[in-house]
This record gives sequence, structure tokens and C-alpha cells, in this order.
Amino acid sequence: MSTKTSAILFDSSDRPLDQSLGDYVHQELKRFILDGKYRAGERIRESDITSELKVSRTPVREAFRRLQSEGLLKFEAQRGVVVAELDRQEVAELYAMRQHMEGFAARCAAQHATESEIEAMEYILAQTKIFDDKIHQFNQINWELHYAIYTAAHNRFLIRAFEALSDSMSLLQGAKYIPAGRPTVLHEEHGRIVEAIKQRDPDAADKAAQHHVRNAFLVHLEVAFHERTGQQVTKATP
Ligand SMILES: [Zn+2]
Repeated sequence: MSTKTSAILFDSSDRPLDQSLGDYVHQELKRFILDGKYRAGERIRESDITSELKVSRTPVREAFRRLQSEGLLKFEAQRGVVVAELDRQEVAELYAMRQHMEGFAARCAAQHATESEIEAMEYILAQTKIFDDKIHQFNQINWELHYAIYTAAHNRFLIRAFEALSDSMSLLQGAKYIPAGRPTVLHEEHGRIVEAIKQRDPDAADKAAQHHVRNAFLVHLEVAFHERTGQQVTKATP
């Protein structure tokens, strides 16, 4: 593709021209929340988004409205637009759903994954070891591993269910602290899931995935408790 063509396809906001401004801002804001740039409970100013994305107020307001109806943002009279926070009951319900979905995904992947899909999982797993000191990349690569398992399950309705949950899951991301030693434990837990899939053992894959999500829930409770009380049993990440 020539430079001239690229210049025609993208304007100064890096937005593909076939995407509406509202869709673009909506997509970028979702990414900011998923990446933990804006965390649950944090205020998002309209002016920050207009300057960051080089867009006017109208598409930002449109995106704010859409994200409010999707449950990712909420409006507070005193503070304006803030990233939604799940209450404790919602968090428990979400992890319960995820536990069974991921168990089922791993079970199906053990039955249906192709050899190249298993190789891809092993590759991603190896990457999680390299990135374990950078929480942002670490979260992203872990997310990719889970997505690879869902894809390898070869069940389109399962993927849809996963995508329906992933917006809510993104509200759980972006914690400032991770408990010491957590990356190593995560790597081991992920390794057990991938190994069971590779061994074509659906029961073991299901069990390993459910165990992993149950542990993730316990860690979430621990991190939430320490962020609330300010107690420092966790290590800060830069
Ligand atoms: Zn995981």
C-alpha cells in the first residue's frame, strides 16, 4: 500500500474512514477501560477524551451514552461520568458464570482443538513468563490465552457468551496491586489447563480451568480487601 493510500484511509485521529466517529470513540473508550487506563470508580472527563482522541464533544457524548447503556460507565450527580463498579454480589455471580464457562471451554478444547491451536496456546503460555513483571502486558497476554482456549472449543455460542461477559470482566481489570508470587502461580495454573488440553483429557482440562477461575476469584477478593483497607500484603507494580 502506498503512502498516499494510507493518508486517504486515515485522518489525524487514526480512525479508519469507514468507521463513524461515534463508533471510534466508543471502541477506544472501551479499550481504555479494558487496559485499566481508567479504573472502576474513576472519573472520565469529556475534555480529556476530546483532546486525547482529537475529536469534538458530540461523538464523545454519544459514546458515553452507549457505554452507560452497556453498563460500563455510569453518571454520578456530583462527579459526572465514572467507570462503573460491580458490587460484591455481581462480582460473585460473574466469577461463578466464568468458572463454568471456562471449564466447559477447556473441556471442549480438549476434544476439538487442532494441533496448531494447541501450539498457539503453548506459545502464548511461554509469553506470559516473559511479561510477568509488567502488569499491563501480563493481563493482556493472559486474556489472549483464555481467548485461544475459547476459540479452540469450536462452539460459536460459547464464544458469544464469552463476548457478552467480557465487558463486565473488563471492569475487574486494572488493579494496581498484584499479590506477590501471583504471576508464577498463574503460569502454573494456565500450564495445567494447556497440558490437559494437549493430552486430550476433557475431565482434567475442565477441572484445571474451574480451579483456576475459583482461585482468581479468591485473589480478586484479597486485592479488593487490601485496596479498600490500604493494608499492604501486596506488591505495588510500576
Ligand atoms: Zn487465567
